[in-house]
Amino acid sequence: MMGPSHAACGAAAWVALTGTYTVDLADVSFPVGLGLMPVGDPGVVTGALICAGAALLPDLDHPGGTVARSLPPVSRWLAKGLSRLAGGHRRGTHSLLGLLAIMVLAELSQRASVPVGDALQWSGTESAADTTGGAATGAAVSGGLGAGSGGSGAVGDAAALLPGQVWPLAAVLSVLLIACAVKVLAFVPDRLSHANWVVGILLGAFVAAHPPEHPHWFVVAVGLGCAVHMAGDLLTTQGIHLLWPLRLPLPLPASLYRRRSFVRLPLLGNAGSGREILLLVPVTLYAVAGLLCAAIAWTGLTVSM
Ligand SMILES: [Zn+2]
Repeated sequence: MMGPSHAACGAAAWVALTGTYTVDLADVSFPVGLGLMPVGDPGVVTGALICAGAALLPDLDHPGGTVARSLPPVSRWLAKGLSRLAGGHRRGTHSLLGLLAIMVLAELSQRASVPVGDALQWSGTESAADTTGGAATGAAVSGGLGAGSGGSGAVGDAAALLPGQVWPLAAVLSVLLIACAVKVLAFVPDRLSHANWVVGILLGAFVAAHPPEHPHWFVVAVGLGCAVHMAGDLLTTQGIHLLWPLRLPLPLPASLYRRRSFVRLPLLGNAGSGREILLLVPVTLYAVAGLLCAAIAWTGLTVSM
């Protein structure tokens, strides 16, 4: 599958999981979202951004690919390292083991916080950090802004202006995911790709300010995005090395399993085929409908047609 298809599928999957909307057109009602994991209206939008980016992450095993050029030079270094570690394209990062590894990394990154505000508030002040809300929901920076009570002197005042906790690993991961999505969906040319840093950081701050309202949203968004990517590639002729690093002589026909490695169900044909484009249209419409519903509900408006 091509990058834009992966990103659209990631956003649509997040909308399907978290959306709770109904679109009424004339006499017909269309449900948008299954509401399996409600995250609030802002969370549908911000989570979709992370999930769309995560749906591109497995292709970081391709140093010459679009995703490797999304956040230069970091993404290129990452892609070179990952390509070696994962044994080549559509192998380690497209396997069940790779999916587990990225979910563990996402979970750890959400837990690994640094108490910035607390560290400065050493002079007998109460903690400024809102650790429960921040750690549970913020991807990058959250909680405790201006919450210092009874701070004394300049240090206390400065600390009150800082966030209570920062999540450095989650911040880096979020910026990378968002930059991937922006690079692919906005078709940013390579000569402008340094601007992706600015867009990634700004949108990362936006996500951190309006995180989905679920304690495990980050790991779910990252895991769902990667799983959707794997499913998409599985439907193409090349398939994916699902059980990497194992190479097993499974009793399956060559049309479904090749070189004792690659599992495939090639309903879409080659990557970028007409069938893939045909699938992309309803998937994109669904994602856009969900994001529009979320944005409209977020602003408190009601739209009737
Ligand atoms: Zn892929």
